[in-house]
Amino acid sequence: MLDMSAKLKVLLTETEIRQTVVRLAAEIRRDYENKELLLIGILKGSFIFLADLVRELGLPVEIDFIKLSSYYSGTETSGKVKMELGLKAKVKGKHVLVVEDIIDTGTTVSFLLNYLKQKEPASLKLCALIDKPSRHRVPVHIDYLGFTIPDRFIVGYGTDWGEKFRYLKDICYID
Ligand code: 5GP
Repeated sequence: MLDMSAKLKVLLTETEIRQTVVRLAAEIRRDYENKELLLIGILKGSFIFLADLVRELGLPVEIDFIKLSSYYSGTETSGKVKMELGLKAKVKGKHVLVVEDIIDTGTTVSFLLNYLKQKEPASLKLCALIDKPSRHRVPVHIDYLGFTIPDRFIVGYGTDWGEKFRYLKDICYID
């Protein structure tokens, strides 16, 4: 059997990720300290990032998830977004922060932000761990950003390749 881990190279270490989560949590805490905040994580890739972020935030936030998919099984987006699992939380009148793992073409988050806007939140912002600006196909404004990286397909820290590698503590790229 082919050992895929042999092709992985570390791009962002566990320590760098940890420091960045602490920084992002401080920025978010400063802006939402006395507000009721609803965090919406996009499944599956954001689950580890969101879990670390909420523990670092230390605010009594509400958490919900939405499952969107725009990917074929390979590494290229289909350009279309499908909602595979909807929200349970009420959005109207709440301060909403979308938490995403990676902004690639921007298709997924721009779909979600437009969808949420129609539900009349009190405010709507975006937090992303990783941005690949050279890949954007639609304009995206990221309010809280962890890392900017070049055009590489990454895995680990919740993100996968064909459902593999989500468990990795570092963020790696496939060489
Ligand atoms: P977009 O809609 O911005 O093109 O793609 C966003 C989604 O595609 C992310 O939520 C993520 O699930 C997936 N994606 C984009 N780039 C990568 C990548 O480099 N690695 C992995 N594992 N997923 C990616």
